[in-house]
Amino acid sequence: MEVRQFRHAMGKFATGVTVIATEVDGNVHGMTANAFMSVSLSPQLVVISIAEKAQMLEKIKQSGTFSVNILSADQKELSMVFAGQLKDHDEVVFERLQGVPVLPNALTQISCEVTAAHVEGDHTLFIGRVTDICVNDAEPLIYYSGKYRRLVKE
Ligand code: FAD
Repeated sequence: MEVRQFRHAMGKFATGVTVIATEVDGNVHGMTANAFMSVSLSPQLVVISIAEKAQMLEKIKQSGTFSVNILSADQKELSMVFAGQLKDHDEVVFERLQGVPVLPNALTQISCEVTAAHVEGDHTLFIGRVTDICVNDAEPLIYYSGKYRRLVKE
């Protein structure tokens, strides 16, 4: 099976969009990601999947913490910024949740401590123990088949 065909098939799974953020030596690094899910309720655990070529990989290994920021429908530009698709943009200011950088006005901000890292193929799965959560009321940004979408009520 070709990689292109695999990506095309996986793109048929509609997801939300997150920005993962972490901080090393006072420098915040963000990265757009949709490979995110909750893993366990007790303890409360989540998982993210980071490509081996991503700068984010070493940053999370160093910091041992990360945040997951679930983006709202009006944060598409931030998704593009942190995917490296939009270079000309205003400075992005972060807030802190349990000392971890989080994006203001994200639909949900989740701060995590890394409890395990599993290398699987060309990605690393980081398991994060949730240390705090902040939920806002807004519509989510959706990603489907390589394009951004909005939820439509039935
Ligand atoms: P870079 O490519 O260096 O950084 C990403 C961009 O963020 C750069 O333009 C950088 O300037 C900017 N940036 C970083 N920190 C800051 C800051 N503090 N202030 C302002 N700008 C900053 N990849 C995965 O590994 N896993 C996934 O689950 C995943 N899901 C994705 C979902 C979507 C919808 C998209 C569009 C991409 C996804 N990617 C995923 C790809 C990933 O977002 C890109 O490959 C990204 O460029 C990798 O980031 P990096 O850590 O290598 O850092």
